[in-house]
Amino acid sequence: MNSRQNFAQYCLDIYAQVDFAPTHGIGSRLYDADNREVIDLAGGIAVNALGHAHPQMIAALNQQAQKLWHTSNIMVNQPALQLAQNLVENSCFDKVFLCNSGTEAVEAGLKLARRFARENYGANKHNIISFKNSFHGRTLFAVSTGGQSQYSQDFVPLPKGIIHGIYNDLVSAEELIDENTAVVIIEPIQAEGGIIAADLEFILKLRTLCDKYNAILMFDEVQTGIGRTGKLFAYQHFPIEPDLISLAKALGGGFPIGAILVKEKFSSGFAVGSHGSTFGGNPLACAVANCVFNIIKTPEVLDGVSLRGELIKAQLSQINSELNVYSEIRGLGLLIGASLTPEYNGRAKEIMLAGFEQNVASLIASANVTRFTPSLIIPEVDIHLGLARFQQALHSFVQHK
Ligand SMILES: *Cc1c(COP(=O)(O)O)cnc(C)c1O
Repeated sequence: MNSRQNFAQYCLDIYAQVDFAPTHGIGSRLYDADNREVIDLAGGIAVNALGHAHPQMIAALNQQAQKLWHTSNIMVNQPALQLAQNLVENSCFDKVFLCNSGTEAVEAGLKLARRFARENYGANKHNIISFKNSFHGRTLFAVSTGGQSQYSQDFVPLPKGIIHGIYNDLVSAEELIDENTAVVIIEPIQAEGGIIAADLEFILKLRTLCDKYNAILMFDEVQTGIGRTGKLFAYQHFPIEPDLISLAKALGGGFPIGAILVKEKFSSGFAVGSHGSTFGGNPLACAVANCVFNIIKTPEVLDGVSLRGELIKAQLSQINSELNVYSEIRGLGLLIGASLTPEYNGRAKEIMLAGFEQNVASLIASANVTRFTPSLIIPEVDIHLGLARFQQALHSFVQHK
């Protein structure tokens, strides 16, 4: 019996796992017990922003592990305070709430927005405007807010007051956002939905409408945040600022942690007792996140993300010019998507599996898009080697079509 079958015997079988069970990793390479080596162009789904076993992260974790693991949030937690200060000083936001995952960050942002609207404008101002094809996590509130009904339809009845508009559609935004809107939540790049970027015009429209109706503009930066797009936060690509963002994935570089960052103007949305988390701001998680953030916020790392992204896109185009599997290669920084031509409709998963057969890890984003979210500091040789293996995978995929 392989380890995949063992896993399914004891764990709820909710992940369609590949047949690879890594036991350790170094940088952008993963190894199993038999020393099979896989080049990691997936980065733990945009989480391992500094690769595997980064020495400074190991040191940060070890140092904190010898001091304090947990106190509860009734006491002041130094690593959490340090992280919050670091996030505030390097963003346009003023206040931080720490939690443990992306979906919890989204949950916290939506709850804050609803409470702010209710306290200031009354009970009718509770609507959440989200967009079709978006992904915001897996709690019931988050799947209801997300714009992909396959994640919510089996769990009805769903929370109310959530309206789904059309992404990048100005008319739809104009129609749906009004005086009863508490919050507009948007991924600046729809990631799980296929690496689809918001248009500048659309974002400007949302900013104008949110200002007009006193609604919170919330960017879900769980995937785009912490350097992924070549800037510390994806909102920095736009000439406007959101009021609130959610973060997770790369924030801990592999240690579970999430956060919301909010502007002063809306921070009264939460008061003592409004919200909370037992593990939120865990000292181990915060010590690691602070270390990760200090490395990623440097210009060398951020500029390197853009260079690496361009390199991957150029090499993919080169590979594709021969095979014609993809109709478009897009994305920003190291959040890269390649969408399949109609001929290969729905077959991105097969390509991902073919990649593993060639010892390269990639991802999908919807059934039609191959996604790459490697470490932000992946060495150039690993990009070359990884994509050479991916090219082999595409060759065998095309041959066996
Ligand atoms: C991954 C993701 C989430 C959910 O994060 P979890 O840590 O899995 O709860 C939410 N929003 C976006 C944009 C994501 O990419």
